[in-house]
Amino acid sequence: MMRGGTIEMRCARSSCCAEPTFGRTLPVRVAPTPGEALDSWLEAIAFRYKVPIGDVMSWCGIEPTPQTTFRLLSPTRDELCRIGAVCGVGSDEIRSMTMDHYGGHAADADHWTSALWARRSRSRFCPHCLRESGGRWLLSWRLNWSFACLTHRCLLTDSCPMCDSAQRRQPLCRSRIPQPGCCPAIQHSGPDRHGRPCNADLGAADVLRFPGRHSILAAQATIQTLLDGSRTNFAIYGAATPPCKTVLSDVRALAQWIMCAVRLIHVDSYLPGDLSSALARQRETMEWPLGPYRRGARIVAPAVDTAAGVTVALRVISLPDHAATVLTLQRLMDNADNGGPYRTPFSRRAGLSPALTAVLDVALAADKADRKLQSRIARKLAASTAVRSASNLLVR
Ligand SMILES: [Zn+2]
Ligand SMILES: [Zn+2]
Repeated sequence: MMRGGTIEMRCARSSCCAEPTFGRTLPVRVAPTPGEALDSWLEAIAFRYKVPIGDVMSWCGIEPTPQTTFRLLSPTRDELCRIGAVCGVGSDEIRSMTMDHYGGHAADADHWTSALWARRSRSRFCPHCLRESGGRWLLSWRLNWSFACLTHRCLLTDSCPMCDSAQRRQPLCRSRIPQPGCCPAIQHSGPDRHGRPCNADLGAADVLRFPGRHSILAAQATIQTLLDGSRTNFAIYGAATPPCKTVLSDVRALAQWIMCAVRLIHVDSYLPGDLSSALARQRETMEWPLGPYRRGARIVAPAVDTAAGVTVALRVISLPDHAATVLTLQRLMDNADNGGPYRTPFSRRAGLSPALTAVLDVALAADKADRKLQSRIARKLAASTAVRSASNLLVR
């Protein structure tokens, strides 16, 4: 707690040690787990010391505002130093628990969020990981790119199994002692209508498992490699190996368009049966195609949707030659919903690579020619039907 500009800390044995100490490292060190996010670690510290999260934030000199879910993932330099001094962890290790890990900086948030397709408002999670780690939350789950757990070979889940609330959408109330692994969403139920935390065990959520070799897991592994900055070659780029950001940008644009505009029945053939069935079940419960991928929409796509879109997109850019890529894109376009969502991704080409742009141009031109031909045939058919009807009338 802050008092008169000093840090007052209760030690782990707070019941026997009431003396406040100034600027001291916490007596009992809570080690971060591999891949853990900073907010999760600070919550684990609060849980260990049985104090509200607001107390830990005060010890670490973290300003209480602005209160956003990303606040604890983008600390300032001063806060980083203070957290390191108080919690006894090096600043590099702390930085690896923030969005800086992905090459971004808080001051440049707009740039990296668009490049990394970050999720600002909520987080997916793997219930098996939560169970095994005692509720520690991984940093990678905060990105839209994370849709499957490679350790447990399963799809990530999007919400609490009990109340269906999205997780990490609201910052924890500063006066609450965190309960790792439990749903903190406030439920207003019961006769008094007072808000109480749901507290459901998030580790009990049911998720789709992927046995054996599976294209969804392969797609997630590829994305992970790209996010780690390891350049990977894809056929669409020929001999060149573009920067990871460029590939991610291409995959994102394709995935968004495919899942936004192409009807499920036409994407089916590119997906494994179990994911395709899960996608069909999920589509029954949501508005489509004007759903998650619509430009400007604040709705975040469910894990199953992202998994499908990214898997098909990676397949498209991995096809052996340009002719095959053009043909596949043309087929997808042919089966696209011919409305706003169909055109939207292609009108925003700023981040696309020249290789994908060139293939798209050829596919779009072929698609346009096809549509013109189809409408000419339709007009001729309509005209000949009209002539036949008129001559039938004359005969009578
Ligand atoms: Zn897992
Ligand atoms: Zn809940």
